[in-house]
Amino acid sequence: MIELMVEKLASRLAKVWAEIRRAAEKANRNANQIKLVAVSKTHGAETIKAAIEAGAKVFGENKVQEAEGKINQIGREKAEWHLIGHLQSNKARKAVRLFDVIHSLDSVELAERLERICEEENRHSLSVFVQIDLAKEATKNGIEEKDLPALVEFLRGAKHLKFGGLMIVPPYFDDTEKVRPYFRRLREIRDEILPGGELSMGMSHDFAVAIEEGATLIRVGTAIFGERDYS
Ligand SMILES: *Cc1c(COP(=O)(O)O)cnc(C)c1O
Repeated sequence: MIELMVEKLASRLAKVWAEIRRAAEKANRNANQIKLVAVSKTHGAETIKAAIEAGAKVFGENKVQEAEGKINQIGREKAEWHLIGHLQSNKARKAVRLFDVIHSLDSVELAERLERICEEENRHSLSVFVQIDLAKEATKNGIEEKDLPALVEFLRGAKHLKFGGLMIVPPYFDDTEKVRPYFRRLREIRDEILPGGELSMGMSHDFAVAIEEGATLIRVGTAIFGERDYS
């Protein structure tokens, strides 16, 4: 049973890596510069363990509570754990304890809180990405461009928070060419405020376009684990 699952995950991972290499080649980039974050939200600890056996090293979770149970079962040190979903301030302490990277920093208030908690928890350094909302969609999280300078200034002076990059969840389009301008704009902002910083962009259906536009981390769930069951 477990062996079957490992085999299936290994073959899906191989397909994703082949597509990563193809997209990188098309853009004259080195595929080694791209990190695959396997988005394991809604999938159980057993599935994640099988994915580790199949070769996945980095996992993305969108809810602190859900991730806590799974990370405790699997072991904090067994993989690299990334928080990719919105972080509520009352979950900040748990997030500092559980995650290696937080992709969803979206306010000065949250940054101040994380910085203070790192101090209290003796967390020497925590890598954070700023999630930007370029579409100004009411349902999406992220900071608007006009509010970005204040957050960037805070991060430049922070002792524990390491400003590692930018992240975006663009609106969904079946036609991935329509997503390209969002990825391109995120890269331009990165070049302006954090040259050489990471770009967390691209999901199962559009990661090839994201790689062409410079993604250094892609967050892929469905293409690795199959459709999610939210019931
Ligand atoms: C769920 C999720 C993903 C992965 O989406 P897929 O389409 O399953 O690859 C990526 N990023 C974020 C922020 C997510 O919440």
